[in-house]
Amino acid sequence: MNLLKDKVAIVTGGTRGIGYCIVKKFLDNGAKVALFGSRQETVDKALASLKADNADYPVIGLCPDLKSFDEVTKAIEDVKAEFGRIDILANNAGISARDSFYEYSPEAFENIMDINVKAVFNCTRAVAPIMKAQGGGSIINTSSMVSIYGQAAGVGYPTSKFAVNGLTKSLARELGKDNIRVNAVAPGVTRTDMVAALPPEMVARISAGIPLGRVGEPEEVADCFVFLASDMASYVTGEILSVDGATQV
Ligand code: NAD
Repeated sequence: MNLLKDKVAIVTGGTRGIGYCIVKKFLDNGAKVALFGSRQETVDKALASLKADNADYPVIGLCPDLKSFDEVTKAIEDVKAEFGRIDILANNAGISARDSFYEYSPEAFENIMDINVKAVFNCTRAVAPIMKAQGGGSIINTSSMVSIYGQAAGVGYPTSKFAVNGLTKSLARELGKDNIRVNAVAPGVTRTDMVAALPPEMVARISAGIPLGRVGEPEEVADCFVFLASDMASYVTGEILSVDGATQV
């Protein structure tokens, strides 16, 4: 399909997992893509893997420190210089931790908020004026099912994802007048490296508690990013789209 023909997208955390699948699906739908990663080495590896699939993919990679507004702004200017415009921002980079509250350090809390929330603010703040000047755009954040239920350990992670929902819903209202749509995808347990490392019996136990009877695949999450990025979702904004097989915890 060619749902994103001639559009230019940025995907943060695009080197592996869900982010890599988003990059691949955006490219397969006709977009030009800039993937942001945390290290040059992993960016190069992702680019090599994509080019091995299709040497003509219009994809570049950068690794700004997402915590630095100045570095993010510079990288976004570089993407615009390379591809001429920016239509889509997928804020996917994220980290999680499950420390008990009694052992949770203020530094760990600050770190998770920096990557999961401040980085979303920085990228969105830097890209929105460009989208406004172009007449619109689509911003898609990555939330989580724990933004609905909370989580019984590792309070920083669900707190950060509640904040992502707050950014999403508030910016949808503020930026709507500039034709900038802001949505979030809220995955349930998804088979990335994190889940692949779990013992099979644990995955079976998790799956048994999910009405669809299995964990999600990263491609299934990425498909929702394609939909929200595309003109098929032209009247969808401010939504938190659950992709969790109707998980209830
Ligand atoms: P992953 O660990 O496989 O990938 C995370 C990505 O974020 C990587 O590309 C990594 O390089 C990037 N990243 C991490 N720290 C960074 C930093 N400091 N600077 C730049 N990039 C950084 O994880 P994933 O499972 O693919 O998760 C992707 C998103 O989906 C995250 O926001 C996560 O919270 C969310 N999510 C995942 C699941 C799941 O079950 N896998 C469930 C709900 C939500």
